[in-house]
Amino acid sequence: ETLDKGLEKTKTSFFSKLSKAVAGKTKVDDDVLDNLEEVLVSSDVGVETTLKIINRIEARVAKDKYLGTDELNQILREEIAGLLSETNVGNETDFTIPIEKKPYVIMVVGVNGVGKTTTIGKLASQFKKAGKSVVLGAADTFRAAAIDQLQVWADRVDVPIVRQEMGSDPASVAFDTLKSAVAQNADVVIIDTAGRLHNKVNLMNELTKIKRVMQKVVEDAPHDVLLVLDGSTGQNAFEQAKQFTLATEVTSLAVTKLDGTAKGGVVIGISDQFKIPVKYIGVGEGVNDLQVFNKIEFVDSFFK
Ligand code: GDP
Repeated sequence: ETLDKGLEKTKTSFFSKLSKAVAGKTKVDDDVLDNLEEVLVSSDVGVETTLKIINRIEARVAKDKYLGTDELNQILREEIAGLLSETNVGNETDFTIPIEKKPYVIMVVGVNGVGKTTTIGKLASQFKKAGKSVVLGAADTFRAAAIDQLQVWADRVDVPIVRQEMGSDPASVAFDTLKSAVAQNADVVIIDTAGRLHNKVNLMNELTKIKRVMQKVVEDAPHDVLLVLDGSTGQNAFEQAKQFTLATEVTSLAVTKLDGTAKGGVVIGISDQFKIPVKYIGVGEGVNDLQVFNKIEFVDSFFK
């Protein structure tokens, strides 16, 4: 229900565009496919992924000879779900972590303003609700505000935070955080990092160093490198995904601010193009406005 609400704008816009795309047509022909292509591109699905979807539908039209426009919803839904299945775990419904990893270490990356801190706070809250103990690490030492904002969330959610002064070595903060988590026998560690994309070599070096230093405490850390992307920024989100995947091995995605955009299709395009599962979606500013991404629910929310 909340998912529907969070994606309301996407859904309404997608639906009205889709109905316009097939208006006055009874069968799927080249016109309808052209219109559909526009609908998908304008929903930020991305050109590459859009073409993939169009090609698949074309193939079905060729195979079945006749495809009615009233069936198009169903076909489109199947094709999108199929596409997400290829790239996405997306079957989880809970905020779970592998119990054999203790502490389970999540390193969070992404540029400023995308909702990184908020996502960390929401995640901490969800893990806590699930009965896990959480420690936060303020390894974005580049901006004082980043440390303070994370502190605000730590206080709000009531979880411990490890921090140092602004300008201190991020890897040292990460090291201290893991040491502290191990000493407390904590279940989950979430490490915030600075995302300065304009200096790619620095970004790469910094993330590599944080990982290396963390591994002195927890051998196989980080267990998850979570890239946070702002879903309302369309092509910027694609570009950031590209840059971060070049800088480090990103293992999952959180797409935020889907409540404020009609372009939720970005989730489909990004997971397809980068072959990285979208694990979480942000659908509001509140502590509970984070959802585990579930591909079936997501696709359903588009077409329901
Ligand atoms: P950071 O700089 O990446 O750490 O970004 P913040 O976590 O400080 O978030 C930037 C702004 O985006 C804040 O005003 C947040 O409340 C807002 N925000 C974060 N996630 C969401 C979301 O899912 N939906 C909406 N509507 N706003 C969000």
